[in-house]
Order: sequence, then structure tokens, then C-alpha cells
Amino acid sequence: TAQIWYENDADLSVFDGKTVAVIGYGSQGHAHALNLRDSGVKVVVGLRPTSKSVAFAKEQGLEVKSVADATKEADVVMILAPDQYQAQIYRDDIEPNLKEGAALAFAHGFNIHYGYIKPSADHPVFMVAPKGPGHIVRREYAAGRGVPVVVAVEQDPRGDGWGITLAYAKALGALRAGAIKTTFKEETETDLFGEQDVLMGGINHLCEMGFEVLTAAGYQPEIAYFEVFHELKMLVDLMNEGGLNKARWSCSDTAQYGDFTSTVIDEHTRERMQYQLGRIQDGAFAKEFMEDQAKGAPKFKELQEEFSRPQLETVGPKLRAMFSWNKGEAADADEKESF
Ligand code: NDP
Ligand code: MG
Ligand code: MG
Repeated sequence: TAQIWYENDADLSVFDGKTVAVIGYGSQGHAHALNLRDSGVKVVVGLRPTSKSVAFAKEQGLEVKSVADATKEADVVMILAPDQYQAQIYRDDIEPNLKEGAALAFAHGFNIHYGYIKPSADHPVFMVAPKGPGHIVRREYAAGRGVPVVVAVEQDPRGDGWGITLAYAKALGALRAGAIKTTFKEETETDLFGEQDVLMGGINHLCEMGFEVLTAAGYQPEIAYFEVFHELKMLVDLMNEGGLNKARWSCSDTAQYGDFTSTVIDEHTRERMQYQLGRIQDGAFAKEFMEDQAKGAPKFKELQEEFSRPQLETVGPKLRAMFSWNKGEAADADEKESF
């Protein structure tokens, strides 16, 4: 069974007299920097001087420096820029300025696992990967709770790697929920699989296709939107509370019978999942993504355009504005500024 750590398993005094540099101030970056700071850790944010995030971070009372200068004073450098830029940032600004023995940290194993970043053996390398979006990591911390993380240590030259990793997870608020032990390989491959096959590549396409089929058959877009998008959240909430059994229990017998007899997801879907998993495991997905990014991301930009779905963009905001229970949900100050 998986090893899981909680609050009492970590010691924040690991960070006494130490500085953590958080590189990037986006979804994860703002959450890590603010949560660590609020847990009493000395934090410096590393950004390009031109970044619009510089002002956001300073408004929150954080110290902001260039990536190079932040790295120079840091005992832990957490790299939270987008995955496709990390290798270049590492080569140009982090590696040449890294203090002796400073630890390198990640929130996703991609660059280490696929070998785009190869730190020298004298630096501890660890991962604290929240299993949730950055804005929720901040929102939950502020509410006194935490988002669970998976943690891994890839290089441990001094033998203190796990102590640092768990202290970092505690400062992030994650040990309030729990940290599960993993490896860079397992986290990277399962994270990509989750995104491609269930969470995004699965659900997003399922919702879109459901919406298209209903509207093409002449049903009102507003009704279609409610059926295939809005109610999803309520089912997922029940799933989080009590798994598939609770989600099913709360639905009508009619709905359950429809669920059990549906032919939408079948063995063909399993084969497609296995195919996608193969491309993750052999590095083909990473290679395709990184090669496109290196060319300025022409394919990625074309796909973003293609998938922006104008009809949903008009129906969605109109309906969300009608949901009284939605109001104020994103009212957290940190969240609005960085979103
Ligand atoms: P974002 O896209 O939100 O991060 C953008 C930040 O990175 C901005 O502050 C941006 O500043 C900065 N940045 C971009 N390029 C550079 C550069 N060349 N030098 C310095 N800073 C730069 O990233 P995410 O938070 O989504 O992802 C960060 C990491 O966390 C990734 O490894 C990701 O896989 C992982 N992760 C993300 C999750 C999420 O919730 N999004 C969940 C779990 C893990 P600028 O204004 O200069 O562009
Ligand atoms: Mg991911
Ligand atoms: Mg993920």
C-alpha cells in the first residue's frame, strides 16, 4: 500500500535560516509562494523583469527578483514556470547561479523524467506535486485546509531529501490533506495519462460531443449546457465524497439503469487509452509537444484556436451568471489578480 504522510510527519524547522526561491508566479507559483510565506518560510519570487506577474507578487508583499538573483540566495529552488520553458530557464538562469548543495524542486516530473533537465548529482532533486489547480491550492490553504500532493525524491546526495520534501509539503498546507509517496516516473506518466484520457482529453471531449449531439438534434443550447456541463460538477462532488457508489446512490433508478447499460465508453475506449499511455511511456507525446514548442508552438496555437468553441463561450457565461450558488466563489483576492 502507498505510503502517506500527514502534518506530524514533517518539521518546518528545516527551513530555519533558509530561503526558498519560487520561479514563476502563475497558477502554482502564486499558491506556493503565498502559502510558504504564510507558513513562516522566507520566500523570494524569481521572474523576468518584464513579467506582468511582478506587480501581482509585490502587491501580496512578496520579494521579487530576477530568476538569476533569486536562485543565488536560495537553498531550495522550486521551478513553477510552464513545463516547456523550464529547461531553458534552468540552463540560462538557474544552473549557473545555483548555490552549492541547493535543492531543486518541481511540481511535475516532466523535465526530469524525460531528461530535459539534468541536474548535477550534488543537488537534491525533489517533487511536491499538488493534485489540484494552483488557485485551489491557495484557496484551500487560506480556508485552513489543504490540497493533497504526491511527493518524490529523485536525487538525495546528503540524505536529507525527504525531510526537505515533507517540510515543503507541510508549508504548502498539503499535509493537512496528505502526501502520497511516488517517483518522478510514476507521477509524470500518470499525470499525463489523467490529463489526456480522463480529466481533459476524456471529460472535455465527452462534454463537447454531448453538447454538439443535443444541439444538432434541435434541443436548446441552454438546456444542453445544463445537462452536459453544469450537472457534472454536482456528480463529481458526490464522487469526491463517496466514490462512484455515492454518485450513483444519489441518482434516480432511471439514471442508474441508463448508466449501467450505456455503450458510450467501451473496449474501443480502453484500446485508445492504452495507445495514449504507450505514447506517454515511450516519450513520443513529450517529444511531439516539446518539438512544437521549440518551433514557437504553431500546432498548439492552431489547436487552441480550433477548440475555443464560440457557441459554448456565449452560452456558458450567460448560464454561469444565473447560478446564485456560484457567486463569490472566485472572490479570493489572490485568485482574481492572478487569474
Ligand atoms: P503557469 O503557466 O501558470 O505559470 C506561468 C508563470 O511562469 C508566470 O509567472 C510566468 O511569468 C512564468 N514564466 C514563464 N516563462 C518564464 C521564463 N522564461 N522565466 C521566468 N518565468 C517564466 O504554470 P503552471 O502553474 O500551470 O505550471 C507550473 C508547473 O506546475 C508545471 O510544472 C506544471 O506541470 C505544474 N503543475 C501545474 C498545475 C496547475 O494547477 N496548473 C497542477 C500541478 C502541477 P511571465 O509573466 O514572465 O510569463
Ligand atoms: Mg499536469
Ligand atoms: Mg495532474
